[in-house]
Amino acid sequence: MHFLDLKQEYASIKKEIGTAIAHILQDGVFIGGSQVENFEKKFALYCGSTCTIGVNSGTDALFLALKALGIGEGHEVITTPFTFFATAEAIANTGARVVFVDIDPHTFNIDPTKIEASITKKTKAILPVHLYGALAEMKKIGAIAKRHRVHIIEDAAQAIGAMSGSKKAGTFGNLGCFSFFPSKNLGSYGDGGMITTNSPALARTLRLLKNHGSSPRDKYKNLILGTNSRLDALQAAILSVKLRHLETWNTKRRNLARFYNESLRDVSTIQLPKPFEQKSHVWHQYTIQCEKRDGLKNFLGSRKIPTMIYYPLALHLQPALKFLGYKRGDFPVTEQTAKKVLSLPIHPFLKKHEVESVVQAIREFYKMPNESESIEKLFSRPPVSSPRRRKSSK
Ligand SMILES: *Cc1c(COP(=O)(O)O)cnc(C)c1O
Repeated sequence: MHFLDLKQEYASIKKEIGTAIAHILQDGVFIGGSQVENFEKKFALYCGSTCTIGVNSGTDALFLALKALGIGEGHEVITTPFTFFATAEAIANTGARVVFVDIDPHTFNIDPTKIEASITKKTKAILPVHLYGALAEMKKIGAIAKRHRVHIIEDAAQAIGAMSGSKKAGTFGNLGCFSFFPSKNLGSYGDGGMITTNSPALARTLRLLKNHGSSPRDKYKNLILGTNSRLDALQAAILSVKLRHLETWNTKRRNLARFYNESLRDVSTIQLPKPFEQKSHVWHQYTIQCEKRDGLKNFLGSRKIPTMIYYPLALHLQPALKFLGYKRGDFPVTEQTAKKVLSLPIHPFLKKHEVESVVQAIREFYKMPNESESIEKLFSRPPVSSPRRRKSSK
């Protein structure tokens, strides 16, 4: 069993990928060009954002988004300490101060009730992360940002496609940042990232920033200091193919999550991910909180069931961020959560017997009766995304 299976994914789209890559090789345009523009357009349509800017990585997306808002030294940006390192790293690299706010233990995301106490005159932005693919509480965060006139930058690296109402991740704030790191729900075959915004002015600045500030009309006239952070044509072509399959893959993830949720419901030593609104979660990870976490991880490992810990060390305790002056105990919910989380395999190519064996092994570890029969039944129920049509009795 694999935690993530990119080989199987490739096998399922091999022909389409081959055609797309051959097209680029024949075209001979590898940086920028129509492939990148096409993908940016498709991505904009998918997300429901007016402007999209392809960049070199999710990390660059965050860094450039902050730069485009003019954020740097003397400013503060509020974010969560329970995320991948790049979120805080991008803020710190602008020269702004990273201000952490503790998380809600049920959602794993920044606790909106704790944000306001951390806002100062220097605060320029709130940077929520949609961790594991679940939307942060954007309504509440949006209201706070409005009240204090600060920007919102979403770290949507794990949440492509997550929805609330008719809005998708990356469109709730001023700027949305995505990563196409291979393990993400939409992954490239290398590095890649995207920024979404509905502000044409911010989009113009971002297009300059990602390409040496080079004037669109006069290439060797450099208008501002930028960098080289472009999305490759090859990656754009690959991502265009994969985007066509994203909804199907996300639906598979949702069904697996539902299966885990229902078949582990009676295991009282485990806290399951809160039953989220259908579309607000794209299950980049299925993460439980459990007692004897390391024991369970080892036991599953002995059964050849791979699991991961995202993330073992809270960011305020990272050596690289020591200069911020935070100490152990500053964010108790995050620190407790980091000791209990365990992410189970949930990729779209996981087989029925594999996911069943994960459940069985967990139940065995906690000495719960095996209920393989009911599990079997549960899995044969119709997928959540396409409810079985009732036969109308005319
Ligand atoms: C993956 C990820 C990033 C960084 O993306 P890269 O493309 O690897 O630079 C940033 N934030 C979060 C939450 C991520 O999961």
